[in-house]
Amino acid sequence: MDFAYTPEQLELKARAAAYAGLLMTYEDEAERAGGPLPAETVHKLTRAAMEAGVYGINMPKEWGGAGLTLLEQVIVEEELGKVTNCLWDIPWRPSNVLAKAAPEQRERYLLPILRGERFDAFATTEPEAGSDAGAIRTTATPVEGGWRLNGEKWFVTCGDVADFLLVQANVLPDNESTLFFVDKDTPGVQISRTPQFMHSAVNGHPEFVFEDVFVPHDAVLGEVGQGFELTKDWFTDERLMIAARTVGVAERALSLARDWAVSREQFGTPIASFQMVQAMLADCAVDIAVNRSYTHQVAWEADHGVDRKTLHAKASIAKLSASEAAGRVVDRCLQIFGGRGYDRSYPVERMYREVRVDRIWEGTSEIQRMIIANELVKRGTAFLDLPVS
Ligand SMILES: Cc1cc2nc3c(=O)[nH]c(=O)nc-3n(C[C@H](O)[C@H](O)[C@H](O)COP(=O)(O)OP(=O)(O)OC[C@H]3O[C@@H](n4cnc5c(N)ncnc54)[C@H](O)[C@@H]3O)c2cc1C
Repeated sequence: MDFAYTPEQLELKARAAAYAGLLMTYEDEAERAGGPLPAETVHKLTRAAMEAGVYGINMPKEWGGAGLTLLEQVIVEEELGKVTNCLWDIPWRPSNVLAKAAPEQRERYLLPILRGERFDAFATTEPEAGSDAGAIRTTATPVEGGWRLNGEKWFVTCGDVADFLLVQANVLPDNESTLFFVDKDTPGVQISRTPQFMHSAVNGHPEFVFEDVFVPHDAVLGEVGQGFELTKDWFTDERLMIAARTVGVAERALSLARDWAVSREQFGTPIASFQMVQAMLADCAVDIAVNRSYTHQVAWEADHGVDRKTLHAKASIAKLSASEAAGRVVDRCLQIFGGRGYDRSYPVERMYREVRVDRIWEGTSEIQRMIIANELVKRGTAFLDLPVS
């Protein structure tokens, strides 16, 4: 077994950390804006991400991506996760399933993303279909030349900045779950509401209505009936990246809280000398250390060909464990800052609000537990084993 970073991985981590440092200088501005940054700032940060090799990290080099393995992506996302206000969305990471697009679709949708010209968003959730993704009601009715889409999609992350969506819809008459490319400027596509969420993110999560939206035959990603499988592939990667980012945010919170604890004095001594504060610091360190190791392990296994079902369950373990741990870590770190932790000018206050959604999006903690339990019941404990090289 070799747990050491290679010199290349270490260099990648340093590069990602330097870029994350640049993003951090925009946190206060993003918090004040409570929404998107000016277009020229986003453009500048996009160019910087490309130069740093942290843009389009999940796509091959020959298409214009950074061509990183999943383990390398985890290394990058852990650094980016330290940044608040979802500024980590600026170094765009297209939906992994776009790699399965047909060559013409790739030319039209994916390659422009990797040049920073187009942006995608993934739309599966509906008012009546959240955890129960099988309950979606958006339909695609066959018509001459293609389909007509009707339905509603909620909480579409980056739906405000995206110029096209991947929409999960049921193809009639057999309700075959299918992913469609839908350009946002297609007649019948409307943003009905942009909810204000707990975090102040640079990108929004609007709700969309689709009314008789015509899409041509070549707007299907993969094949008719593959929608669920593709969405599952998207979830697996995203869950692993959430695990990586929540390890990152927890580490930044602990670093700030540790520095505060050794410098802040009460009762004539640094608060770090009080055992109750030390216990909080120690528990944070444990939460971070074990979740970093496991997230790295699962990404490594994915790169070494672990089967899809096992990976799906392991990504759920990583997401569940790391996101819940980050919630505990940030809560303790806020406590160590005392009243200052509750002050909006301290990053730990933002982190406290921001990590909450990591237990909800890309499947709630309860849904992750269901996935893990299902795997356990069906196949036993073997999926927990370490792989054999
Ligand atoms: C900020 C934000 C961004 C998002 N971005 C996107 C996006 O880009 N694209 C997209 O498609 N969706 C997105 N979502 C939607 C997100 O994935 C859903 O909110 C999530 O899957 C939960 O669905 P729900 O909100 O309908 O809650 P529900 O499914 O109604 O769940 C409510 C509660 O019931 C629990 N529950 C449900 N079923 C079970 C069960 N079988 N067993 C035990 N407990 C259960 C849940 O865990 C939860 O606690 C986003 C959500 C948010 C908040």
